[in-house]
Amino acid sequence: EDKFYIVKVSMDGVTIEDAPAEIIGGCGNYKAIEILNAKYGPKVGIALAGPAGEYRLAAANISVKDPESNIRSLGRGGLGAVLGSKKVKAVIIDDAGAPASVPVANPEAFKAAAKVFAKAMLDHPVTGQALPNYGTDVLVNILNEAGGLPTRNFTTGRNDWANNVGGETMNANITARGGDGKVAHGCHAGCIIRCSQWYPDKDGKYITSGFEYETAWGLGADACITDLDECAYIDRAMDDVGVDSIETSVAIATAMEGGLLPWGDGKAALKLVEEMAIPTPLARILASGTAIVGKTCGLFRVPIVKDQAIPAYDPRSVKGIGLTYATTPMGADHTAGYTIATNILKVGGYVDPLQKEGQIELSRNLQIATAAVDSTGMCIFVAFPVLDIPEAFMALIDMINARYGYSLTPDDVTELGKSVLKVERGFNKKAGFTNLDDRLPEFFEEEAIAPHNAIWDFTPEEIDKVMDF
Ligand code: SF4
Repeated sequence: EDKFYIVKVSMDGVTIEDAPAEIIGGCGNYKAIEILNAKYGPKVGIALAGPAGEYRLAAANISVKDPESNIRSLGRGGLGAVLGSKKVKAVIIDDAGAPASVPVANPEAFKAAAKVFAKAMLDHPVTGQALPNYGTDVLVNILNEAGGLPTRNFTTGRNDWANNVGGETMNANITARGGDGKVAHGCHAGCIIRCSQWYPDKDGKYITSGFEYETAWGLGADACITDLDECAYIDRAMDDVGVDSIETSVAIATAMEGGLLPWGDGKAALKLVEEMAIPTPLARILASGTAIVGKTCGLFRVPIVKDQAIPAYDPRSVKGIGLTYATTPMGADHTAGYTIATNILKVGGYVDPLQKEGQIELSRNLQIATAAVDSTGMCIFVAFPVLDIPEAFMALIDMINARYGYSLTPDDVTELGKSVLKVERGFNKKAGFTNLDDRLPEFFEEEAIAPHNAIWDFTPEEIDKVMDF
């Protein structure tokens, strides 16, 4: 049936009701949030499938209303298609009548630990300065300098226009244009890092927010769309139709390699993303993700692991992240074991990105630690101070202990991370995945990448050691 439903969660329980007809069948997420706010009240939380989710397209994400009724995304893995397949258009969370806070077993200890934790966030150069000033897009120039910024579908690791789409340009445009523009914006009220921003047009009118490095990279470097404003409009369109901006940007670059779009043509890319709301046949192919675009075009050079697009760091010139791409149960998920921290930013020590030595342990340890931190519900960016400042790591554990009355130790946290990864890999095994799926595409072994002439040179046996614990 064509019907879609709203799942509403409130203090009265869970109810299921028909979704308003006007938000079904091509209505963009910005408009849908406006309609749902009017129906359920401006304070409710909303998570919804956009048009791409309704059509069950594999790049569909779940879009989430932020405090200003703009959009954040549960981006990767095609979760919007899962929601669409269940005929759920939106989940509404109404906390009216709920207690103002959760019970805390030891409030004084919690407050003391939170103070130490917050200070570490503000003291660390990445979370205290780089992210609030330039957003995650600060990484464009850093990765370009390191020769690890995949450009023109992973054919080179450096280009001469990177700064056009980098965080410094983003900051300068926002500052110069004024109007709705905001540097250092939090995607939720409690964030003290505030890596997000509101990116405005030349007249100061809001275009998009949460305009991330991976999106600016995917469009700006990988697809060679060298104008940051064009990238911003595509980012907005991706949020509006509800597709993951990494998967879709890499799919666009792959489509360019396949001749479906001219290289660097931001206007053609924008039109195609907007058509995902209909969807036209070509838009449907694109929103089915990079793997499908590669197959459709008969390409050999398709940057995917487990059919998910490889993001913004070249695995040949930043080898640790290649091991994470290969072995993370999610497939090509940089956040699962973000070795860029240590390989490039020298956070938590330093492991030379171009050498194999130390990368297996680095990827393994970061994947274990990340699985644990993710389980706390903390933003992944807290990991920078947690890796560098011992008190921050202890404060995180102290907060959990104070909240629940536990007495967890650092070793318990490590065991938690290991157990999460084992469950995830167990799930994959039952779904038919084997070690052979923990591999990068062959072209990374066959094509050396400039400027370091780097190649992917881990053997299958070495790759398998990452998850051997
Ligand atoms: S919670 Fe994380 S992603 Fe959101 S604004 Fe804060 S630092 Fe950025």
